Amino acid sequence: MATDCIFCKIIKGESPATFVYKDDDMVVFHNTRPSAPVHVLIVPREHIESVNALEEKHSAIISKMMVRAKEIARLLGIRDSGYKLVINVGSGAGQVIFHLHIHLIGGWGSLDQPQSRI
Ligand SMILES: [Zn+2]
Repeated sequence: MATDCIFCKIIKGESPATFVYKDDDMVVFHNTRPSAPVHVLIVPREHIESVNALEEKHSAIISKMMVRAKEIARLLGIRDSGYKLVINVGSGAGQVIFHLHIHLIGGWGSLDQPQSRI
């Protein structure tokens, strides 16, 4: 738990977010600055700084996040049209919030060029 972490505050209900899914292990909410028609963040409740901070004990939650990603994509209607799952690791790769999260992005029309920049 990091008291100055915006994602921890969202998880605790101290900051607003538009949730699309919650369970005991993770929350999923819309990115406030979407870079695609659909752009949600899959965030573990445990404060894990980044992929670089992952330990063996985190294997179960990471696995659940991937399985849930597929279900959230279906929920948001982009499972079959295609989507990206992106994890930025470190500021040099564009990680802004240092609480591990998966970007689930999609919803482009079939003629649009998929956006790779998030
Ligand atoms: Zn956090």
